[in-house]
Amino acid sequence: MSSFQAPKGTFDWLPPRSERALAVREALSAPARRAGYGYIETPTFEDTALFARGVGESTDIVTKEMYTFEDKGGRSITLRPEMTAGTLRAVLQHGLHNAGQLPVKLWYSGSNFRYERAQKGRYRHFSQVGVEALGAEDPALDAEVIMLALDGYAALGLTGVELLLNTLGCKECRPAYRAALQEFLRGLDLDEATRARVELNPLRVLDDKRPEVRAQLENAPLVTDHLCEACKAYHEEVRALLSGEGVAYTDDPRLVRGLDYYTRTTFEFVHGGLGAQSAVGGGGRYDGLSEMIGGPPLPGVGWAIGVDRTVLAMEAEGLAEDDGERAAGRVSVYGVPLGEDARRVMFGLVTGLRRAGVPADMAFGGRGVKGAMKGADRSGARFAVILGERDLAAGEAQLKDLASGEQTAVPLAGLVTTLKEKLSI
Ligand code: AMP
Repeated sequence: MSSFQAPKGTFDWLPPRSERALAVREALSAPARRAGYGYIETPTFEDTALFARGVGESTDIVTKEMYTFEDKGGRSITLRPEMTAGTLRAVLQHGLHNAGQLPVKLWYSGSNFRYERAQKGRYRHFSQVGVEALGAEDPALDAEVIMLALDGYAALGLTGVELLLNTLGCKECRPAYRAALQEFLRGLDLDEATRARVELNPLRVLDDKRPEVRAQLENAPLVTDHLCEACKAYHEEVRALLSGEGVAYTDDPRLVRGLDYYTRTTFEFVHGGLGAQSAVGGGGRYDGLSEMIGGPPLPGVGWAIGVDRTVLAMEAEGLAEDDGERAAGRVSVYGVPLGEDARRVMFGLVTGLRRAGVPADMAFGGRGVKGAMKGADRSGARFAVILGERDLAAGEAQLKDLASGEQTAVPLAGLVTTLKEKLSI
């Protein structure tokens, strides 16, 4: 063991479990790709000011959780705590919203960094898949992004994901609601930090998880009672579209999110098998974000889903039990060369098999026949190809079926074809 450990709050994805993370990224992005979303990759770090303005000065993320440092050129740099701000920065920088049809539809996948209190399901380095649709304000688009997430979860076989739905109003109706909420909150028995939050960002107080705060929030005014007509109609349409597709959801008028930029539709995907960190994904509409980071008015809607937590949710549902098989089936063919010349020829054979689409490995490190055969067994391969000096001279190899133990001589020239046939590749 080395004396180094992964930093606190981080962990390593190791095979075969790491396959689950890949499968989650693939399944969550596939529905978006089918809906015309293009792949975007932005830097892992951005100017600190982008997040301060884009995520919000009063959020936990910006005040407590960012990995911020000064680079050698004296710039303040921050490792991204989320990917929407960077995505929108890239759209504005490259004028994607002027270049073609709206909405601009993008999906991403990558690492995020938050200095959080580490616990199961909450890490300092974690991974998200997300979608953003920019440049259209249309309830069908809100419903579309929600469907994409639900289809992704369904493709993974998850049945325990619940959709919580809310609206946060818009710049017309939110100020009056904010004021009403503030008035209510000022009358409560709250600690100093929370009282400060009441003044800065009262909606976020609704998100407080502490029981002593929760208990006092029971009669808090609800945003749904303060919506303007346009927001009401918009929200009804989103709900109708989802219901029309048979989607079950729970209206949650207290659902606010940890980031400042949301307007109108907000939603969260939660899973009962995860304990305290139950959110497997979340998102919503953020019509003000572009202007907050110095761009033109550009409405947007999107979500980010936690890859790590989605894997935990699958494990909680018993959906990831085939790791053993997957590990065992790593390759189909395992080469056992006996001697220098055989190794050279085996190297060519294995290369040829792989190019022909046959997963293949071979014994390395000059192990004797016993060690090499053990390697063949451990690899989970169905066939071993054994090549000794005498085989080489005869232009053949011994093909051993590792399940039955049956062994036959096969001409080297026909080996790839024979194996493809036997493996139905
Ligand atoms: P957010 O960007 O905070 O809306 O988070 C979106 C999703 O990312 C959440 O629903 C989680 O699944 C995941 N997530 C957020 N923070 C963490 C974290 N610290 N560790 C693991 N997953 C996270």
